[in-house]
Amino acid sequence: MPEMDHLKSKNQYWLPNLRSWATDGTKRPLLSDSEERNIFLMGPPGAGKTTVAKVLGKLLEKHVMDIDDDWLEIHWKTSVADKLAELGDEGFLEAEGEEMLKFQKKNYVVSLTGSNALHSRSMEHLSKSGIFIYLDVPTSLILSRCKLMKIDRIVGQSTKSLADILAYRQSIYENSYDIRIIVNDGQTQIDIAHVICRELNKLQKYVSTRGFQNENSLEFIDVAKRGLSPDRGLFVPISFSPLSLAELERLSGLSYQEKALRVIERFPLGTLHPSQLRSIIYSAYGTFLHDDVLPVTHLRKNQYLIETYFGPTASFKDLSLQLLPRLLNVVTENDGVRHGLLVATSGDTGTAVLDGFSRLPNSPIVVLYPKDGVSIVQKAQMQTATGPVCVLGVDGDFDFCQTMVKDIFNDSTLNEEFAKIVPYLHFSSANSINWARFLPQVVFTVSSYLKLVEQNIIKLGEPIDVCIPTGNFGNILGAVYARHLGLPLRRLIAASNVNNVIADFVKTGVYDLRTRQFMHTITPSIDILISSNLERFIYLITDSDYTIVKQLFEDLERNHFFKVGPELHSKIQSEISAGWTSEAECLKTIASVYKETGKFIDPHTAVAVHVASSYDDSENVPMLISSTAHYAKFPTAMLTALQEQPTQTTDMNVMFDILRSLPHHPSSNIHPELEKLSLKTCVHTKNVAANKEAIVEEIKQFLKQFSTQIVGKQQL
Ligand SMILES: *Cc1c(COP(=O)(O)O)cnc(C)c1O
Repeated sequence: MPEMDHLKSKNQYWLPNLRSWATDGTKRPLLSDSEERNIFLMGPPGAGKTTVAKVLGKLLEKHVMDIDDDWLEIHWKTSVADKLAELGDEGFLEAEGEEMLKFQKKNYVVSLTGSNALHSRSMEHLSKSGIFIYLDVPTSLILSRCKLMKIDRIVGQSTKSLADILAYRQSIYENSYDIRIIVNDGQTQIDIAHVICRELNKLQKYVSTRGFQNENSLEFIDVAKRGLSPDRGLFVPISFSPLSLAELERLSGLSYQEKALRVIERFPLGTLHPSQLRSIIYSAYGTFLHDDVLPVTHLRKNQYLIETYFGPTASFKDLSLQLLPRLLNVVTENDGVRHGLLVATSGDTGTAVLDGFSRLPNSPIVVLYPKDGVSIVQKAQMQTATGPVCVLGVDGDFDFCQTMVKDIFNDSTLNEEFAKIVPYLHFSSANSINWARFLPQVVFTVSSYLKLVEQNIIKLGEPIDVCIPTGNFGNILGAVYARHLGLPLRRLIAASNVNNVIADFVKTGVYDLRTRQFMHTITPSIDILISSNLERFIYLITDSDYTIVKQLFEDLERNHFFKVGPELHSKIQSEISAGWTSEAECLKTIASVYKETGKFIDPHTAVAVHVASSYDDSENVPMLISSTAHYAKFPTAMLTALQEQPTQTTDMNVMFDILRSLPHHPSSNIHPELEKLSLKTCVHTKNVAANKEAIVEEIKQFLKQFSTQIVGKQQL
């Protein structure tokens, strides 16, 4: 396709401007602050651009123009078909582009031609006066509509099949639109125009679960940089767009990357352009070892596993933490701030942060982990990290580490002191308290549901149950959001280990830490008593009642306790179920699953499998279980579960060898990134007391060292 290649190279240098219409994100409809703005409808021939434009023009009280009929043919004084015949494909595109460069109208709804998007200079020109709305219509529908239409005015038609032309153009549209509208057969122009209005009016604003609203309003990029709200609440979007079953159907069959893009787009992204999001997603998930990114496999009976551990550090955290650094890289370029990271980890977040953020060489990273609360492999992953990192084993539990992180974020004097050591330093969070870290997790359940549809296990629209091992309530909240998007999810089950505060809370409506003892378990990643994302959950299900949330979570901070009223309690129970698994049951489940299926499941997965198995499966509704980490991250627990004799060794490699030697073990199947660990050197072996001053002192020492390194580099 020589001509297509030519067009492609032309388009490489055209990157659409950032969407500037969303920066304000106030309660006003977005259009009212720029009534003059043009709305450009873009899409293949037969997408309905012209008819939708007419309806939309009425709804928005704008003029309407069809580029073919009201611009090109008027100016050329000849038909588009004749012009194409006269000039040929390339000549036509050039002439059409030149004509578009003269476009100076304001306050129009414009239906573009199918080929306008192929001319980058004119698209850039148009982007200055309006936004591009992409009518994303299924190709099969376009092909059948084109059969019925006069199709003598499509560029490329003389030499290529219509399907090829459409596929190529789709790739251009995909990189140009500001707003995607997923269009289905059976939708009328009026339906489509209303969806467009909804999207144009979607509030782009984020607020705190405890009521804080920035006067200048915060958009996606702001909350990604900030992590936590100043009132200690968590950032949440004011609104998001549901996904209808018909829209979901359009996601079916797409790659994980394409699904992720379409799901994340349902949430307000403000000035982050979809084309940037697309390239970030592709780059992030390119690091995964499995083509499906998150494959779904059958376990036993009605149980299916989402295998989330094919990323570079072998837990689901990679899905977010490969994405977040790339996002911050794009949005913080030239913002005059040096972005650092401060993270508390129960094991997997730390390892995933250290891998993901090593791509930002100028960002100092501080990781706090409970020194006796992570597995031998997790510890090795963190201690062998490279780059400007400070990894501290804290003589305390995860909750202490997380509270430290929240404290340090909100201590402005301290942050000024840090910035004196490293100029313009600003710490962000990569825990799931950060919305941008959490958002990619909403995709898991949507993608996995569609995988079950693609594998003919369910039909679209049929319900499934979901069971997820829960610590900070992140993944399970992702599933709750998926349900609120419109996914037909029946039961959502949160599975805890013996730190079963969530299971008790769902049962009693009381969140009580007063007499609770923190326990170190063989599932360290869910050894958590303060489940931060519960706050977002309560906010979501109380229809954004921040007064309730503020009261409950301030009570928790002050009194280590809160109790919800009966109404809220029953609402909670209608949204989620919960259960928990003892240490002994967890080990037994690893063993029984292995015996029954030959599969190795990690202890966290086993916690969920055990809880899931306690539910009646007679209705044969599939139970999707989140397998959150690779089993080889927890070799001690695996060997305890699978061997008759308890393991004597503490050597990671010996443990890997024993695992490999077990029957059914696919010999190549220890995660390749974990195997590399034994070749690396442990450098970050420092431990610190569970005490704010001591931790702050360590961070300052590290920052001093970091600042001399960057000064040294600059002198070079
Ligand atoms: C982080 C983690 C969890 C808990 O996830 P939340 O979303 O915080 O509830 C469960 N299992 C593993 C392996 C994890 O790393």
